[in-house]
Amino acid sequence: MKKTVSFSRHSANIFFHILTRCNLHCRHCYINPEQHGTRMLDIATIGRWLALFADRHPAANVIFLGGEPTLHPELSQAVKQARELAYASVTIDTNGYLFHDILDKVTPAAVDFFSFSLDGPRPSVNDPLRGEGSFDACTRGIAAAKARGFDVSLIYTVSRANIDHLHAMPPLLADLGVDRFFIQVIGIRGQWAEDASQRQILAQVDRTTWLDVIPKVAEAAARKGVAVTYPKVFLDPREPFECAGLVADNYFIFPNGRVYRCPLCEDYPLHSLEIRDDRLVETARVNEADLFPLTIPEGCVMNRIIQPRNLPPAAAGSTGGKIACCMLKEEITP
Ligand code: SF4
Ligand code: SF4
Repeated sequence: MKKTVSFSRHSANIFFHILTRCNLHCRHCYINPEQHGTRMLDIATIGRWLALFADRHPAANVIFLGGEPTLHPELSQAVKQARELAYASVTIDTNGYLFHDILDKVTPAAVDFFSFSLDGPRPSVNDPLRGEGSFDACTRGIAAAKARGFDVSLIYTVSRANIDHLHAMPPLLADLGVDRFFIQVIGIRGQWAEDASQRQILAQVDRTTWLDVIPKVAEAAARKGVAVTYPKVFLDPREPFECAGLVADNYFIFPNGRVYRCPLCEDYPLHSLEIRDDRLVETARVNEADLFPLTIPEGCVMNRIIQPRNLPPAAAGSTGGKIACCMLKEEITP
């Protein structure tokens, strides 16, 4: 069954980057130390910041991110704190290397999902993007997590470099026992985005290719019993446009205290909130929140301003649709 998943008005999502360090150097990495710092939050600070958002949004979902969050030696403690604060769900995003024996330190009752990142159905596609040996490490990590009873999701970031191989993912997902499959659009963010030749290789695919390929692969994965979520990206002319920054509660927290409401802004000091002395405060204007209400024919204002070459809207004067909010998803359940 396919449906568009509108932004939830009743739950908040806390995307918590507890450090920015990583063992990999993926070509499309969106982490930008110039903007997000190089700090690893200590466990006491993680606990206070989790409490800050738990007070504001009881029963939020928390997603621990990095860099590579399993490089944090006290990640299991952070999971425990999130549970004690009654977060509704806890997810750990990982590149699959699973440092510090994390699978031995947390339980399936405490972690709702381990979410692995893989950008190709075999090493020859994945490893040039994510690093030598990363395909084997990731698939080994998935097998280990499944063997211990964890639910596992997998994120595939689609770009021109790997869309031709996406069709080979459904059988692999079934073999690995993956429970959920997230197809993601590449964002032009991070230090690599300053390199024009990289932007050419890794750019988002055009509208026709996206609409030809993505729904079919999603349906093929669902037929194998895997739930699939992918961004809508392109709205039909009749579909309403909404900006999650105005109607949803998503927080992208970085270890230097910046808190963004829109991930497209993360390369710029446009964050609308900041954690100072363990308090969440609004930042000076102009910031992302001043841009969310702007209504433009092209749809998402931040896509137009920040990455206009990545997702060009329909040609002027055509009846084509708008660019959707990057957080608007389609969901197919088996
Ligand atoms: S695994 Fe994630 S944080 Fe690490 S380099 Fe790759 S994209 Fe960046
Ligand atoms: S991606 Fe666009 S529509 Fe979505 S929150 Fe950001 S500015 Fe708003």
